[in-house]
Amino acid sequence: MSLLRLSQGHLNTFAKCPRRYQYQYIDQLNAPISPDHQAQLDRGSRLHHLMQQRELGLSLDAILNPDDPLRAMYDALLAAVPDLEDASISRAAEQSRTLVWDGVALTVIYDLLMVKGDRALIFDWKTYQNPPRRDILQQNWQTQLYPFVLAATSDYAPEQITMTYWIVDQTNQVHSETFAYSAQWYQQTQANLRQSLMALEMAQSEYQEQGKPFPQVNIQAQKCQRCPFQQPCQRQETVTFSPQDWRRMLTTLPASPGE
Ligand code: SF4
Repeated sequence: MSLLRLSQGHLNTFAKCPRRYQYQYIDQLNAPISPDHQAQLDRGSRLHHLMQQRELGLSLDAILNPDDPLRAMYDALLAAVPDLEDASISRAAEQSRTLVWDGVALTVIYDLLMVKGDRALIFDWKTYQNPPRRDILQQNWQTQLYPFVLAATSDYAPEQITMTYWIVDQTNQVHSETFAYSAQWYQQTQANLRQSLMALEMAQSEYQEQGKPFPQVNIQAQKCQRCPFQQPCQRQETVTFSPQDWRRMLTTLPASPGE
């Protein structure tokens, strides 16, 4: 049996909705992407490309015209992130690491990994229209997995590792959120991973051996409206009403037809 390979994207999708994980990663259904979302993805991937070129010391002229709107975003990020220009700080861009843990290969890609004194700094570039709240970022599997894999595959203790998101918004304002890792958080990540992997492996074996689909998310969680798999999932244009909605509708109905 081949090793299950997971990234933070797999874990986030499974946490969001197990059925969505099935469609995306097992059935490999193509998810339609709106032009707005595609533009957002392109913006993010071009920024990553630029930052990688820069770290490799390659010229940006071929991929960045002076009047390219991306230049303002790139310049804003360079001005905001400290130590980027300090050549004495050792660093690696787009560094990939894999940790085999509990029979699963966990893969991460660090946009930039810097070593400053006795500390390891993980930097991640993000582009969002509106930056997410800190508590949402903290729950994201990327925030858990990236420091975890570094601590498990290096000599750095969890307390020596930080993870910082550098987020450029729609108006090229740069926001940052830093998470200091710790031994306690490391233990918590292990527990969360164990729980998620158990649920995922069970869903996968029931699907493969009995044809039982992965569980859908509870419709009341309102995660389906923006899901690209509404059609195969038969949750298309589904409208749900809470008991309060029903009461309100019943009390506003006319007492008899024609009233
Ligand atoms: S439509 Fe809802 S239940 Fe179905 S895959 Fe998407 S999020 Fe999950």
